[in-house]
Amino acid sequence: MRTNPFLSCVIPAYNEAGNLPQFIPALAAKLDQLDLAGYEIIVIDDGSKDNTLDVLYSLVENYPLRVLELSRNFGKEAALSAGLDHVTGDIALLIDADFQHPIDEIPTMLNLWRNGYDMVYGIRSRNTESWLKRVFTHAYYKLMSFSTSVEIPENAGDFRLIDEKVVKAIQNLPEKNRYMKGLYAWVGFKSIGLQFSEQERQHGTSSFNFKSLFNLAISGLTGFSDLPLRVSTYLGALLAFMAMAYGFWIILKTLIEGSSVPGWATLVAGMTLLGGIQLLFIGILGEYIGRIYTEVKNRPKYIVAAEYSKAKNSSSTSDNKTS
Ligand code: UDP
Ligand code: MG
Repeated sequence: MRTNPFLSCVIPAYNEAGNLPQFIPALAAKLDQLDLAGYEIIVIDDGSKDNTLDVLYSLVENYPLRVLELSRNFGKEAALSAGLDHVTGDIALLIDADFQHPIDEIPTMLNLWRNGYDMVYGIRSRNTESWLKRVFTHAYYKLMSFSTSVEIPENAGDFRLIDEKVVKAIQNLPEKNRYMKGLYAWVGFKSIGLQFSEQERQHGTSSFNFKSLFNLAISGLTGFSDLPLRVSTYLGALLAFMAMAYGFWIILKTLIEGSSVPGWATLVAGMTLLGGIQLLFIGILGEYIGRIYTEVKNRPKYIVAAEYSKAKNSSSTSDNKTS
């Protein structure tokens, strides 16, 4: 049994002014009931356009809150990285600000950690999502498990409790393209899933639309697999073989039957098919090159404009957790 830990909560927040005034007190009330050495709540304001920051300033007085103000909207993955880079606790709890992750599960997660698990990840029921989204997500997880050796558990999201050593391992990953679900899986450690039923968002709307989810999906695939690159090799080899066989057949036919003019339809069809396939794979190459370019530029994953807590209000211009 592990002893009472100091817990750091990490909450990414983008336009959550509607939720935070209820969420922070509810979370604090829950944490007060637990056997903890203490806790801190780190909220990362990810360039919100509403008055999330003002709400947070007003909460700082009454709760053990640390507010990290990012200089603009960097996206949830970067906001989570920022939070993880600032935790001081023995364990970190990653939780959304919109009540979709039930705080009632925290005691169970904590118990699993006490029993020796280094990472307890929530498995969402997805009962709040449309069937179409569920079908797409399921297909995506199947594709991911086929294309990469890293086992990314299906429907495991960002609601998780992680030990300090997992936090350190994630902090030390240098990449700028951060697909967090992949990174949690990549670092390994003794992990266990915990089913939870996802709640409806209390206020506001989800920041993720089809386009951002698609981008996240591509980022996951290219970040953890080079299968798309290899497909072009396989497909190229197959087509070359077919073209050779076809050429051989044409030569044979011409020798036996003499030359014949018809066949331009086949030619055009072949050309467009090949042209399409080539463009597709140039696109795939472009995806990887784009990612290499991002890594090479080596810009910080996020910039902290200011940090506030009851004890200290400080400002810093940049955070170069570039390692
Ligand atoms: N979020 C963020 N930056 C963003 C988008 C979202 O920090 O650019 C936060 C948001 O405030 C919430 C969490 O990430 O706490 C999950 O976002 P959301 O509820 O919009 O996504 P969904 O639950 O639909 O996946
Ligand atoms: Mg949500």
